[in-house]
Amino acid sequence: MNSVSPSPRRGLRVALLSPRGPLYKHGSGIWKKSLRYMPLTLTTLAALVPEELGAELRLFEEGIDDIPLDLEADLVGLSVITGSATRSYELADHFRSRGLPVVLGGVHPTLLPDEAAAHADAVVVGYAEETWPELLRDFAAGCLKPRYDMAPDFRLENVPIPRRDLLPADHYFTRHTIEATRGCNHNCEFCVVPTAWGGPRQRPVAEVLAEVRAMNPKKLLFLDLNLVANPDYARELFRALAPLGIRWGGLSTIDIAFDDELLDLAAAGGCRGLLIGFESLSQASLAETRKLFNTTRDYGDAMRRFHDRKIAIMACFVFGFDHDTRDSFAETAELAIEARIDLPRFAIVTPFPGTPLFRRLKADGRILTEDWDLYDAQHVVFRPARMTPEELLRGTEWAWKKVYGLSSIAKRLLGAWVQPWVSLPANLGYRFYARNLHRFYTCRGAPV
Ligand code: SF4
Repeated sequence: MNSVSPSPRRGLRVALLSPRGPLYKHGSGIWKKSLRYMPLTLTTLAALVPEELGAELRLFEEGIDDIPLDLEADLVGLSVITGSATRSYELADHFRSRGLPVVLGGVHPTLLPDEAAAHADAVVVGYAEETWPELLRDFAAGCLKPRYDMAPDFRLENVPIPRRDLLPADHYFTRHTIEATRGCNHNCEFCVVPTAWGGPRQRPVAEVLAEVRAMNPKKLLFLDLNLVANPDYARELFRALAPLGIRWGGLSTIDIAFDDELLDLAAAGGCRGLLIGFESLSQASLAETRKLFNTTRDYGDAMRRFHDRKIAIMACFVFGFDHDTRDSFAETAELAIEARIDLPRFAIVTPFPGTPLFRRLKADGRILTEDWDLYDAQHVVFRPARMTPEELLRGTEWAWKKVYGLSSIAKRLLGAWVQPWVSLPANLGYRFYARNLHRFYTCRGAPV
């Protein structure tokens, strides 16, 4: 094990890296910088570094910049998602071959710690708020352990304010991102959240408000996976935000559309946009993926309720459930246009490792590849039930192009006219994305 303590003459030099998969990769990816918000992972890890170590911190987000292969550091930490696992392991192996100790953490090492351990001196499993400082102190003392697990009773309290100053603000459309909660109260079959992170946790509202006030933003983006997982907490948070006069967006389930009090509080509290997983029009597909709370919902009615309160919606649909057919693409695109969804998005069912969906498809012999590069929700990595992999890939691409055709954009936006100064440029960004997906598929060689 490369357990090298820093020189006593200077502080610990820590490099924190966030490698990216091909879709987002700097230089060859298809996302423009203007569509990126500042993520919280590296800045949060930086804030957790114990002061007494006097550490010198360098942060590299590969989505916006190159990671220097010759970087000098006493310890290299990588935050890994499944889509970036291959690249992360490549980088980890490189730095270890140079004698630099490497720590891997994030959702993928949490799901597959043994796989990650083959490329690391230490693996962090679960949230790192308590384990990362402990790991750094161990490292400084020359007694790094191979694995650090989150305590089951971990509470999201007294977390430090992320070091946003360590990432270049001009590379993002906003640096004002924040988390109030983590985890989710649901258990959708395809989702990594319940498997990797467990149930919902909330920060005390007073701590969230203190962080918001410190940023003093006009606009704010909550990165919580489900802001309304605990409706009582959400009500308290929305009430507390109202006097600040901030416009904000976040992620929610569709439940909020049919809870009048919660929806009114969100709107009065400054909510102007929500990302919601509509997932499918098929009741059978929703039941199959355990998203039963969506099955009784009328998406058109939900959109009217949001638009009545001037809340724009990014609605995510997923193709490739076992009950989906070749007709699903046109039906879903039509609904997105007719319901005036401000920003529709389409993903392909992805059986992330460790999820119940992965286990089911693996047991049925339907997993086509375990090349994690392709686990990005835009490639087909399993055998669909009622169409070919090629039909699923091309059908999804067709749906993107359909809803982001100029006439479809006009119909969706003119029909609602909610937050047009945000929706219009975002639609043009997604139009660019839709029209360039074929380049991405070709260059990655999907296993279809
Ligand atoms: S509601 Fe969303 S975050 Fe929660 S388990 Fe389902 S897909 Fe995951």
